[in-house]
Amino acid sequence: MEKEIKKEDLLGHKFEYVQDKISEDEKTLTVEIAEEYKRFIDEGKTERECCQYIERLARENGFSNIDDLIKENVELQPGMKVYGNNRDKSIILFIIGEDSIESGMKIVGGHIDSPRIDLKPTPLYEDSGMAYFKTHYYGGIRKYQWASLPLSIHGVIINEKGEKISISIGEEACDPIFFISDLLPHLAKDQNKKSLAEGIEGEGLNLIVGNTMSDDKEAKERFKLKVLEILNEKYNVTEEDFMTAELEIVPAGKARDAGFDRSMIVGYGHDDRSCSFAGMKAILDIEGTPKKTVVGMFMDKEEVGSMGNTGSESKYFENMVAELMNLQMDNYKDLYVRRAFMNTKVLSADVGAAYDPNYASAYDKRNSPFMGKGIVLVKYTGARGKSGCNDANAEFVHEVRDIFNRHDVIWQTGELGKVDQGGGGTIAYILANAGADVIDCGIPVISMHAPYEMISKADLYMTYKGYKAFLID
Ligand code: MN
Ligand code: MN
Repeated sequence: MEKEIKKEDLLGHKFEYVQDKISEDEKTLTVEIAEEYKRFIDEGKTERECCQYIERLARENGFSNIDDLIKENVELQPGMKVYGNNRDKSIILFIIGEDSIESGMKIVGGHIDSPRIDLKPTPLYEDSGMAYFKTHYYGGIRKYQWASLPLSIHGVIINEKGEKISISIGEEACDPIFFISDLLPHLAKDQNKKSLAEGIEGEGLNLIVGNTMSDDKEAKERFKLKVLEILNEKYNVTEEDFMTAELEIVPAGKARDAGFDRSMIVGYGHDDRSCSFAGMKAILDIEGTPKKTVVGMFMDKEEVGSMGNTGSESKYFENMVAELMNLQMDNYKDLYVRRAFMNTKVLSADVGAAYDPNYASAYDKRNSPFMGKGIVLVKYTGARGKSGCNDANAEFVHEVRDIFNRHDVIWQTGELGKVDQGGGGTIAYILANAGADVIDCGIPVISMHAPYEMISKADLYMTYKGYKAFLID
């Protein structure tokens, strides 16, 4: 007998709020995962710190460093857990599946770099009784948002002897913080006439780092010298050492629950540490041996175009797959690596632009993801006429839809704002270029790329659930 088609079925689909669709147990899990996540972003303010954090958890969960496996020429067995740490800036986790790698992998890939402000190679100067650092911003920031905020400094300095000194100042309550000034409203008549983009310029993002002089009255630049004296005493570094440093300025302080109901999290770096965390947790929580080899990629440099040897465009991942296949098969050939990529399925784990009623005119409400409606599938990103996008094939979108539905994952779809309003991209196209099926899929964010961004805890939980379902299905 033919099934009778009801009007409700014809009228299409309505995405619902996660809250109404999950059990009490899952609600408890949502709160627990949010606490774990806040610890992750509080400790992971830079790609290096996130990389260390992920490596520590991976090792605690039985993952071995691929370099050791290669050295010992270990035969790769199903169920083995392997990771590769690329220069302490990106990290990739593997659980070897029952099937050969050649038959394809299941990948969740996100990035652990976030928009921020870097120091210039020669940063320190003084002016009018204050010591400053010159900076160069990293990624797509709206510059006016970074003035008048408590800021911290994280990173590494390599001194003349080659010793690597790790620095993190401004996170503890007893630490000092740093500051970029804005103009007082009383004198802002001219600045107020400028556009938001021009109100504070790139060369205006100068960080105030001191206001006392060296005791050396003979010295020329005593405010600058005072800062160097402190840094030398504490870290054994000199002015020249700044040239061999990577110091990043980020918002100081911890992520916080938001709303009377504590349903959301406001913090720095949700893009893309929220999806990276969900992907990491999904992999770490997998029990037993998955059918396909599962992979979690936590990459650097996405915010500046994924270039360089720690970005997704680098050969690092491909080389790692080749090394693993070489340990898995007797007669390794390059051709098998190519086949592996052709057979691979990927969720490009990156955040989406949540619909914001406060700025309704920037969005198409019918095609935007909403806070609290779960993981968002973004078929394509790009700008203007989908320029530069990875447009996921309908067949693959169906595959993911089917997995999510079978595993009770609450999902929604959306695109990045209105057509011709702007645009953006992710790492999706990179693995797609290698032949894999890829779709963007992650957490909707309010105020993306601002010093403090907002996500919903329900979406974080549902994204973790979705990634895990995809990896093991
Ligand atoms: Mn991102
Ligand atoms: Mn971004």
